Amino acid sequence: MSSNLFTLAALPYEQDALAPAISAQTIAYHYGKHLQAYINNLNAALPGSGFEGKSLEEIVKEAEGGIFNNAGQVLNHTMYFQQFKPAGSPSEPTGELAAAIARDFGSFEELKAEFQKKGAGLFGSGWVWLSSDAEGRLVITQEPNAGNPVRRGLKPLLTFDVWEHAYYLDYQNRRPDHLAALWDIVDWDVVASRY
Ligand code: MN
Repeated sequence: MSSNLFTLAALPYEQDALAPAISAQTIAYHYGKHLQAYINNLNAALPGSGFEGKSLEEIVKEAEGGIFNNAGQVLNHTMYFQQFKPAGSPSEPTGELAAAIARDFGSFEELKAEFQKKGAGLFGSGWVWLSSDAEGRLVITQEPNAGNPVRRGLKPLLTFDVWEHAYYLDYQNRRPDHLAALWDIVDWDVVASRY
């Protein structure tokens, strides 16, 4: 057996801890089934691909086709699920990240408004991302399907999944309401640690 198989990272919270933004049922499918399937598909595709032994980020930067799609979804979902904390005690950015948000967006409220607008306005499946560039400037981008800002040379900090599987059990067609609810569970210490 290859020694570099990717595995499902444990959640840093209980499966029912993110409700109502994300229900336990959605976690069971989205984390337990969808993410596990992307991991299994990636591991199955690696032998003989030239990507064996490379890091997940290296694969996402360099691969195309099925390997890119599955590696991108593994990286995106791993970052997504690790960036949340239990509902009920919303936090805000602090320190250097808070200063950068004020500099580049005007305020935290303006960042949230632009992030939600770009998430709600992404046609079809994909991800909205907050990233930083080589100079530490913050940028919000829309990435279709399995896209990740590392493909543009950016450092990804925060992401909301706008594939329907991320919210349909809980919010049906109300994607904007789901995105608005996610601010309650973002762990800004995790986001800041990526900056
Ligand atoms: Mn997803």
